[in-house]
Amino acid sequence: MPGRFAKKVAIITGSSFGIGRETALLFAKEGAKVTVTGRNEERLEGTKKALIDAGIPESNYLIVPADITTSAGQDSLISETLNKFGKINILVNNAGASLPDAQKKFGIDQGVDTYEKVMKLNVQSVIEMTQKVRPHLAKSKGEIVNVSSVVALKFGFARTPYYPLAKAALDQYTRSAAIDLIAEGIRVNTVNPGIVQTGFLGSATGMSGDACQEFYDNMGSNPSVVPVGFSGRPDHIAKAIAFLADLSLYLWILTHKFFRTFIVNSFSLYTRQ
Ligand code: NDP
Repeated sequence: MPGRFAKKVAIITGSSFGIGRETALLFAKEGAKVTVTGRNEERLEGTKKALIDAGIPESNYLIVPADITTSAGQDSLISETLNKFGKINILVNNAGASLPDAQKKFGIDQGVDTYEKVMKLNVQSVIEMTQKVRPHLAKSKGEIVNVSSVVALKFGFARTPYYPLAKAALDQYTRSAAIDLIAEGIRVNTVNPGIVQTGFLGSATGMSGDACQEFYDNMGSNPSVVPVGFSGRPDHIAKAIAFLADLSLYLWILTHKFFRTFIVNSFSLYTRQ
């Protein structure tokens, strides 16, 4: 299938729903072979159906049910991808969530168990996947795109402090990994989305689908929260992820000084230039 990701193999974590599903769909439409993963079989079926509806042949996608916080889940994701596609060019570390506190507490009263679970999903699984996929990306001169959040930026977030903490740690890890891995030809970048209409809010709060939509509509129509006038959609973020994972576009940018200045200021394109 022709497209900018033709002959590329991409693992997209958290692609059973939301931003990850749209990213898998976009990559596949642009010619990539994609490994789709998540824990929820029904949601995975939803992504599979979206791929089939888009005319993606079975030879170009792989569905691997896995918990990304477990070593076994990470290993099966990687080994099944290599078994089916033979290589890995792109790793999108997208799986993430703000997990509710078991004791239903907020602020600094949230338990250390909540802190551990949030860090394990949003940071530790990214570290482990990066370590495990590294030799394969070194071979293919590949790409990593991490999905962080606007909450990683420099402002407090009192109600659920561990999720922004985890995403800020992820940003710092991305910077370090980018400098370390460019020596092997692997580029590492991050996307920091604002409010995006996905399953995120429902998972974090237990709110119904209608209540979540009302929240997204209210936030989107408040210019002091979202100046553009609407909450983001998963496909908006998928396009940014695809942009960062597209090495050919990056090389073109490097040769055009104006765009280089603009892009480097707009995104986290870390490299030794
Ligand atoms: P969704 O809840 O819609 O999707 C989250 C995805 O992560 C699902 O596919 C889910 O799969 C997967 N996931 C969660 N936990 C695990 C786990 N333990 N093992 C494997 N997969 C897991 O949310 P989004 O699409 O919004 O989230 C994608 C990324 O975007 C996250 O990193 C999030 O932090 C970030 N983000 C989202 C924003 C938003 O407003 N929506 C804003 C800023 C950042 P399953 O349920 O099948 O396990």
